[in-house]
Amino acid sequence: TALVVAIDGPSGTGKSTISRRIAAEFGLAYLDTGAMYRAAAWWCVREGIDLADTAAVAAQVRELPLQIGTDPREPSFAVGGEDVSVVIRSTEISTMVSAVATNLDVRAQLQDRQRAAIAAEQRPDGFSGGRGIVAEGRDITTVVAPDAQVRILLLADEAARLARRAKELHGTADSAALEATRDQVVRRDAEDSTVSNFTTAADGVLTVDTSTMTLEESVDTVRGIVTR
Ligand code: C5P
Repeated sequence: TALVVAIDGPSGTGKSTISRRIAAEFGLAYLDTGAMYRAAAWWCVREGIDLADTAAVAAQVRELPLQIGTDPREPSFAVGGEDVSVVIRSTEISTMVSAVATNLDVRAQLQDRQRAAIAAEQRPDGFSGGRGIVAEGRDITTVVAPDAQVRILLLADEAARLARRAKELHGTADSAALEATRDQVVRRDAEDSTVSNFTTAADGVLTVDTSTMTLEESVDTVRGIVTR
């Protein structure tokens, strides 16, 4: 059976970078489930849907014409043929994505699509040629792919996560950059953790704390878990 690697964790743990690296090294597909929630939020906003209207949001997401590119070297997302890979990373979307991701109807829908994307990589005609996939998010080890052969929870203390995200977004981790990043890390994680458990490892899930690790050390640690 094809390999499924499930990786969860809050923002700023290095989750996406590590997942992509591991997928590329092992010749696996890569699924960024956060990008799916971002694409859903982007589409609802563009269609003028009130994000507080949970029924309207759920109905809109049901029609979301999402195309998922699972190449770890160039992951891509398109909505109705329009490439949204860059626009879904904006601060505007980061600020409101949790409102869509805490909609339980939306979660059920996107979890179904995620399971279908993972199943597609078990087949020889999938991107990975049937070798498998690395899927990352907040609820992959627990809800989307609890049967994955490898299940990892990446953690890091808040200061480390804040500093990494500030450097990513502002090129520096000075106090102004940290303050400008706080909402996107602390408030978003608090909101997301009302619907997913990504702060403590479920049974059978290995925790890797990257607080004091370099990216290379984190990749080495995850690689060690995948190959053992
Ligand atoms: O990983 P990323 O920060 O891009 O995720 C964006 C948002 O998508 C998260 O803040 C969360 O609201 C949502 N998400 C989720 N479940 C996942 C992955 C992401 O609710 N498995």
